[in-house]
Amino acid sequence: MSANHASGTLVQALPLRRDVVVIGGGIVGLASAYELARRGVSVLLIEQDRVGSKQSGRNLGFVRQQGRALPELPIMMEANRRWRSLSGELGKDVEWVMGGNLRLTNDPGLAASYESWVKVAASLGLDSRVVSDQEIASILGARRDKWLLGIFTASDGHADPQATCAAYESAARSHGVEIVEGARVVAMSSAGGHVTGVVTPMGEVTAGAVVLAAGAGSAKLVAQLGPRLPQRLVRQSVILTSPVERVTDAAAWTGELFVRQDLRGSLRLASATRNEIVLEPGAVRDAPRYLSSYLANRSQLKLRLDGASLARALARALHGAGGDEYAPRAVASDVARCLAAAHRIYPQLGELTLLRAWAGEIDATPDALGVIDAPPSHPGLVIATAMSGHGFGTSPAVGSIVASLVEGREPGFDLKAFRLDRFSDGSHLEPAHLL
Ligand SMILES: Cc1cc2nc3c(=O)[nH]c(=O)nc-3n(C[C@H](O)[C@H](O)[C@H](O)COP(=O)(O)OP(=O)(O)OC[C@H]3O[C@@H](n4cnc5c(N)ncnc54)[C@H](O)[C@@H]3O)c2cc1C
Repeated sequence: MSANHASGTLVQALPLRRDVVVIGGGIVGLASAYELARRGVSVLLIEQDRVGSKQSGRNLGFVRQQGRALPELPIMMEANRRWRSLSGELGKDVEWVMGGNLRLTNDPGLAASYESWVKVAASLGLDSRVVSDQEIASILGARRDKWLLGIFTASDGHADPQATCAAYESAARSHGVEIVEGARVVAMSSAGGHVTGVVTPMGEVTAGAVVLAAGAGSAKLVAQLGPRLPQRLVRQSVILTSPVERVTDAAAWTGELFVRQDLRGSLRLASATRNEIVLEPGAVRDAPRYLSSYLANRSQLKLRLDGASLARALARALHGAGGDEYAPRAVASDVARCLAAAHRIYPQLGELTLLRAWAGEIDATPDALGVIDAPPSHPGLVIATAMSGHGFGTSPAVGSIVASLVEGREPGFDLKAFRLDRFSDGSHLEPAHLL
């Protein structure tokens, strides 16, 4: 099926068989392919667009243990350990800065939950602590302001999303991973419940195992096999300013704004309160399932029903219907708000100028935890997807977990909270924080 005869030459678009096929060239697929190849497994990674073109190349680059849901924390602590030497390991600079993660609030309810989180984190050996106003001003490099509470984890950091994807890509290739871009997996093939490979318009590839790491494209592929993976999207605009004098090494969340300063001096900003629930047909159907998550994250989410939002929803639906790639754009009013908010925090920098703005769509489950699972109902399938706004930071550890699951080895983490069937076995889902 994947062989064509052109001018008498046999043209083979895709290999007929590999040990493992990875679907999706985001950070999760790339890290998984890299880890598998390091263990001597032959891997083909199939990406419908360009590697790192979706969430993984568009995110803020926060790498934080601070504020993580408890089931995710051990995975993130291991990922943090890996981030510290990731540039050396992958042979390319991922722009890791261990400048800490700062979280501020003036909301009494959040302040109480942050304080109790710090106590639990300390019991797990994490260096999170409550910080004074004076320390906040110095960590943030901002004029002094009054905050009800600030917490800080010095061992957290940030990295550049595109540089990290590029580093994983080149390390994966150098370990022998074959990466095909511009090919969409339309289905996973199966026989008697076993997943046996993938189908693309360019041919079929059989494999001993398939790793599903297709981000927002995962739910559709899982549904074809039977199970349902609830996955809804939240759009966030990201703003990059022209370089300014160094103000902070931390990645900070002020309650209103996310801010980090990259190695070139640019501030990377996003609104913490205007993340847009993406309007798509399934959003209405899934609303009851997501209600508790929406409520838990309501200070950060917006449901926009104005003309511009409806036009965006229509454009999205039309692109989807045509099978084209939809590249979400930054919302202009969010860009202006973020620049104004950053100016209020950093009046000493004068007028901030926009270098670039874009948007990304976060794939979220009802409990804002990803799915990392080798579902017993479908041998041959390993799922690592729907990371719910947390997947950049956890990726170095998730890649190793995926490799262990593929090899049938003990992954070293309790993955109960991440299993696929929690959405269908009547489990009570406690919503975690999306961002
Ligand atoms: C604006 C924004 C800010 C964020 N900030 C942070 C942050 O600061 N820290 C953090 O840890 N996380 C953050 N996140 C979340 C993080 O980016 C994601 O959790 C992570 O990138 C998910 O990686 P992924 O590989 O699962 O998905 P993706 O990066 O979306 O990759 C999936 C890939 O699969 C491909 N694909 C889909 N369907 C198919 C198919 N049928 N066939 C072939 N290929 C397919 C897609 O084209 C895509 O390239 C943010 C996300 C966004 C959007």
